[in-house]
Amino acid sequence: MDFLKPRYTPMNRRRRIYEGKAKVLYEGPEPGTLIQHFKDDATAFNAKKHEVIDGKGVLNNRISEFIFQNLNDIGVPTHFIRRMNMREQLIREVEIVPLEVVVRNVAAGSLATRLGLEEGTQLPRSIIEFYYKNDQLNDPMVSEEHITAFGWATPQEIDDIMALAIRVNDFLSGLFLGVGIRLVDFKIETGRLWEGDMMRIVVADEISPDSCRLWDIKSSDKLDKDRFRKDLGGLIEAYTEVAKRLGVMSENEKVQGGGPRLVQ
Ligand code: UDP
Repeated sequence: MDFLKPRYTPMNRRRRIYEGKAKVLYEGPEPGTLIQHFKDDATAFNAKKHEVIDGKGVLNNRISEFIFQNLNDIGVPTHFIRRMNMREQLIREVEIVPLEVVVRNVAAGSLATRLGLEEGTQLPRSIIEFYYKNDQLNDPMVSEEHITAFGWATPQEIDDIMALAIRVNDFLSGLFLGVGIRLVDFKIETGRLWEGDMMRIVVADEISPDSCRLWDIKSSDKLDKDRFRKDLGGLIEAYTEVAKRLGVMSENEKVQGGGPRLVQ
């Protein structure tokens, strides 16, 4: 009864479209789709610091799935279609806008350093920043002037991106507040999704503790990638805690060693 089995393409025979620091993109089952595979690699400081943390990819796949599915459900367009397995999700192919869009609610990280603010200071309002995605240049911060002058995005696209970023911030702030977590800041990427002659900007990439600063409201414990950046340890425990609070991982589910592993 072989014909009843779903068609399965072994991982090493899939066409690899792109390999990044924490993810690999493979050709998808239909035109206009891709498979996004979450690796266990953790990098920081433009990949100068690198470690493999067993189970991180599984957790980020689950957490990002949960967030993107909820965004889709409330009408915030994303590239996400569905999760396929422990480490992979099916996504729509988009043209990535070469900007990292950071939204901040509380001073931390590079903002605290740059402007001499004490970490944890509530900002007068949410602030959106743009960084040009370019590893060789260390992702420099850029203004709307740079973005339009160099043609990375049009003024209309910048408006659309900012509107998306604010909606994502409102949704995520409420979601995390409800489970006792303060959303300090986060980064999103966006992409152009073509539907016939129409193009719209959608949220792409991932949203996970790798790309957010998440502080426990009671203890102020960091539940995000700063555990790795600052050598605090306990990264998997922290990400598992986020997954559990969001209800995407049951109490006794273990992530270590789970799911298909990338053959290097
Ligand atoms: N961020 C990210 N990828 C990057 C840079 C930043 O996901 O390449 C996220 C980071 O996790 C934080 C927010 O964007 O939630 C703001 O980061 P910041 O500018 O403070 O940079 P950092 O100090 O983290 O390098």
